[in-house]
Amino acid sequence: MDSEQNLRPRTAEDVAALVRQAQAGAQPVTVIAGGHGPWSHSASEGVRIDLSALADIGVAGSRVSIGGGATWGAVADVLADHELALSSGDTRSVGVGGLTLGGGIGLMVRAWGLAVDQLVGAQVVTAAGEIVETSATEQPELFWALRGGGGNFGVVTRFDFEAHPLTRVALGEFLVGDGADRAAVLRAMRDILRDAPRELTVTYMDVPAMDPSAPAGARLVAVWAGDDPDALRRVLAPLTELDGVVGDVSGAAYPDILMEMPQPADPDAAPPRLLGGNGLIRELDDELIDRLVAFRSAYPASVVFLRSLGGAFGDVPQEGTAFPARDATWFVMAGGFDVPGMLDDAMREAVLADAGAITGGRLAEYGNFADAERPDAVPGMFDVVAYERLRELKARWDPQNTFRRNHNIAV
Ligand SMILES: Cc1cc2nc3c(=O)[nH]c(=O)nc-3n(C[C@H](O)[C@H](O)[C@H](O)COP(=O)(O)OP(=O)(O)OC[C@H]3O[C@@H](n4cnc5c(N)ncnc54)[C@H](O)[C@@H]3O)c2cc1C
Repeated sequence: MDSEQNLRPRTAEDVAALVRQAQAGAQPVTVIAGGHGPWSHSASEGVRIDLSALADIGVAGSRVSIGGGATWGAVADVLADHELALSSGDTRSVGVGGLTLGGGIGLMVRAWGLAVDQLVGAQVVTAAGEIVETSATEQPELFWALRGGGGNFGVVTRFDFEAHPLTRVALGEFLVGDGADRAAVLRAMRDILRDAPRELTVTYMDVPAMDPSAPAGARLVAVWAGDDPDALRRVLAPLTELDGVVGDVSGAAYPDILMEMPQPADPDAAPPRLLGGNGLIRELDDELIDRLVAFRSAYPASVVFLRSLGGAFGDVPQEGTAFPARDATWFVMAGGFDVPGMLDDAMREAVLADAGAITGGRLAEYGNFADAERPDAVPGMFDVVAYERLRELKARWDPQNTFRRNHNIAV
């Protein structure tokens, strides 16, 4: 165990000892993997378990075992050496822990499903300080809860995934110029995705000039899960032929398409909060597209983000995992950066109201992109039946709510 404060465990046994220590003092446990969740930054009483020393990545055939504190960039690098890949998030420094337990909507979600759909087992340190193996056959109910239920059920010290053979991907990167008709671009993107091969996943983001490291403007990133740039070019043609859409398709290694976390101009300044919301939505209809375009142009500090779903994401039965809204076809986020001088009180209210109207018809909220602790919102992050099942499992596995530094399932 790390000598400094005994908070950087190196083994599952170390983690178990820390959890037992927290239990004995009736203290909550904060778990940190990649450190991008809201709880990693806020101070709290209790025991903070930093899993960064538990980050080994082992490959045996297509089975990959990953320590609970690894990051997705490291995983992609190791898997590429074996001509394998997992659909993860889009950013290297994001943790396998937080992203997976919340679901994980990655760049190849339509080809291979959520990060959690590729999970076949997990080793968990429970609130009782016991080390438990879970899979479809060992503690299957706990394994079900881990796939979307967040950090509520214990500390995952090892994730076991089934990876997919992959040499290279095709990558399309397009800028949507200021003069382009954004609504037409979004409609073309939506229409393509209605019956596109599942190899295709598309992300659209329109961000303001907040920082020199994050280029402003609307961008479209299309990933084809396979080494076939021509197939990607063909399927995107109705979109790339539109006026003002400029870019190209190329071949790339999967680790190379993951982003580095942008470094802020002033690393000591607290990052601005993003006001607004997100939703897993059934249908990206014309009205919603118009709302998104109007929202982005109304507020200079606003962000619009969309990622396509469907395909393998929708193959998983609703009751198969704790993740909600398997009939969603898009993930949508609309928010405004709360930058002093850019948003006054009236605008802040308007941003919240307009973002609320955009996400109002959602099937569910995606907890991994909810940037703050909002206990009232947690039931809306799950299917109704799943939420009750999660509550029962929480009462069984963590009756004292030791793991409450998360989107907390009420016992
Ligand atoms: C730049 C950026 C890009 C992103 N891109 C995507 C994306 O493409 N797709 C997507 O779906 N999401 C994405 N996200 C959201 C991301 O999934 C969440 O922020 C996630 O919580 C980050 O996980 P983490 O391990 O880095 O954070 P952490 O703060 O370390 O963990 C978040 C929470 O997860 C729990 N937790 C983490 N590890 C464990 C563990 N081993 N055992 C038990 N509990 C644990 C804890 O409750 C913890 O508070 C992105 C976020 C950022 C900042």
